[in-house]
Amino acid sequence: MQVFSPNMLKTFDECPKKYELRYIQKVNVVQSPKIFERGKKIHALAHYYLRGEDITKFIPTLTNEEKLIWQYLMENEYFQKKYVNSEYNLNAKLENFWIGGRLDAFMKSQNNYYILDYKTGAIPKNPEEDFQTMIYLICANRILSQGWGNNFSLSFVYIDLKNKKNHIIEFSDEKKAVYENKLITSCKKITTTQTFNKNLSRCNFCEFNKICNV
Ligand code: SF4
Repeated sequence: MQVFSPNMLKTFDECPKKYELRYIQKVNVVQSPKIFERGKKIHALAHYYLRGEDITKFIPTLTNEEKLIWQYLMENEYFQKKYVNSEYNLNAKLENFWIGGRLDAFMKSQNNYYILDYKTGAIPKNPEEDFQTMIYLICANRILSQGWGNNFSLSFVYIDLKNKKNHIIEFSDEKKAVYENKLITSCKKITTTQTFNKNLSRCNFCEFNKICNV
């Protein structure tokens, strides 16, 4: 079963050729692990902490900067809500397509649910219509609707750890219609494309630029 993740849809949107290299030909380009190191550490720590595990032995392994980031996350009002799940895989079917991904954390306060996404780098430029926002909200809404009907609220919270602020997107019926439409359109584009065209305007920062013959 093919499940379209936020990264897959984003990659195709940026450059269809990149999508072909990464997800069809499965070309693996090694990137510097340093780029992801801090984000990985904070995400792992948050997951263990939320599950109630003892994280005291991990704290000394953080750099001073990472300790400040961790402190800010711990004090964040959304991170302090009631834990539902973390590193949580969700998917949903839209027409003939499956979409899905893994949430950083899912929290609640009474019947108000919050998808948390911690960013140690920048949050998306257009968070309301980022593929991650759309996919996670559609999938979480699908699950909650099965248990609660319409008796809940759902929001996506980007926790911007770099700039110390939250960006909150409240889900609604209007958003559901717009998101479903956009996601189905994107999935259709990928599955019906005949030629994976190159988007030469994106090559400068592309990890495939040495093998792409551009
Ligand atoms: S190098 Fe350019 S054309 Fe090739 S995959 Fe990357 S962005 Fe696309």
